[in-house]
Amino acid sequence: MTAHSQSSSNTRTCGTCTLCCRLPDIDELSKPANAWCTHCVDGMGCQIYQNRPQTCRDFLCLWMTDATLGDEWEPAKAHMMVYTQGPQMTVLVDPAYPAMWKLEPYSTQLHDWAKEAEGRGGYVIVFVGDDVFKV
Ligand code: SF4
Ligand code: SF4
Repeated sequence: MTAHSQSSSNTRTCGTCTLCCRLPDIDELSKPANAWCTHCVDGMGCQIYQNRPQTCRDFLCLWMTDATLGDEWEPAKAHMMVYTQGPQMTVLVDPAYPAMWKLEPYSTQLHDWAKEAEGRGGYVIVFVGDDVFKV
């Protein structure tokens, strides 16, 4: 949620991606899903970076933290962001690109992840605007 400034333990950086300042709902900011955070300025990122809420401080998407996700999963390219909560994997799809998760290589990867998650008692869930799909 810290577009332009956050970096992970590997060499990946958020770059110009701002998906996590738009797609998720964030209670601390009373921000609904799929709406820009009022503190995010296009091309500049977070305008309250030093005072951003804890949720934003704690968050990194899976592409940032898991080097096994290929470059195709870079959120700015994939138009999707992925994160895990325990055994659950959540995929938030940019509503402007609603079919991305059904295209390859994403569809096969999501089904592979769903099989792995099932073995852990979890699942993969995809949000596209108001629609929710279990893979
Ligand atoms: S979705 Fe991931 S890459 Fe994009 S700004 Fe958020 S943490 Fe960074
Ligand atoms: S407060 Fe900053 S980091 Fe958090 S969602 Fe808004 S723009 Fe993004």
